[in-house]
Amino acid sequence: MTETANRNALGLDIGGSSVKWALVHVDSGEPRIVRTGLEQLEPTRDPTDVIAVLGEITRDVRAEYGELSSVGVGLPGLFDAATGSPTLLPNFPDAWHGFPFTASVEAQLGQRITLVNDAKAFSLAESLVGAAAGRDLAVCVVLGTGVGGGVVQHGTLLAGQGSAGELGHLTVELDGPMCGCGNTGCVEAFAGSAAISAYAGQPSAQATFDAARNGDRRAQAAVDRAVRALGIGLSNVFITLAPDVFVIGGGIADAGDELLEPIAAEIRRRVRVAPPEQIRVVNAVLGRHAGAIGAALRSADPIPGSPAACR
Ligand SMILES: [Zn+2]
Repeated sequence: MTETANRNALGLDIGGSSVKWALVHVDSGEPRIVRTGLEQLEPTRDPTDVIAVLGEITRDVRAEYGELSSVGVGLPGLFDAATGSPTLLPNFPDAWHGFPFTASVEAQLGQRITLVNDAKAFSLAESLVGAAAGRDLAVCVVLGTGVGGGVVQHGTLLAGQGSAGELGHLTVELDGPMCGCGNTGCVEAFAGSAAISAYAGQPSAQATFDAARNGDRRAQAAVDRAVRALGIGLSNVFITLAPDVFVIGGGIADAGDELLEPIAAEIRRRVRVAPPEQIRVVNAVLGRHAGAIGAALRSADPIPGSPAACR
């Protein structure tokens, strides 16, 4: 038996087709990523089956590394903080809605868990051990089917009353297209992958970027429109918070600099109240396990009673 306290936090990030996990050593000093992994999910993604996968991963990790000091679970949607049940989980079966998720996972694992929204987990990870490490105030954006985000100051996720950082739902056009949230003219209605591909007449956002690169004008117009919407939204965020850095990640962000530079240029064009060199836009660096790493970090340092612990 070892004398030292075992401070290993496990993060489990539930995605559309897999569960990504990360074991993070969270003793004193800088958090250290011990190991990451991935388990495929059955296409049905029934909540009971997914929870069984979480149980298998946890059992295997415990068998190799010992007991876990905390467990965080990332969900690609919204949930009720009080009940631990999903309230909005786009692209998942209806059975998830209202399912007693937290209680079921805790029963399966025999341990308390901390639920966190996946974009918030991403933001925490990139801010603490990723692209914005060492920066005081970072605003992170995840570009995917939806547009998620999070604001992290001095290593703490800012939640406000709970919903702070939902950057995809900043209004950027007075009478813009309908957004999935019920508002019109949101960033997501221009820059979500579905919006980009629909505007371009392409099967996917990736196909749209490829077509734009090959000179397809309609695809280029869809990319330009997404960039403008993001740039306008983030210029408003800059004026509100003046963050040290914006971190851009998620599937679409794999387009890389061809997306980053135009977004930065749009923000600089619109922010006239600060010198342009203060506007920094960088790529995420942690890759596909960022959400799992962030879920582990969140579980290691939850703020009791804070709504942030549940978003
Ligand atoms: Zn919206």
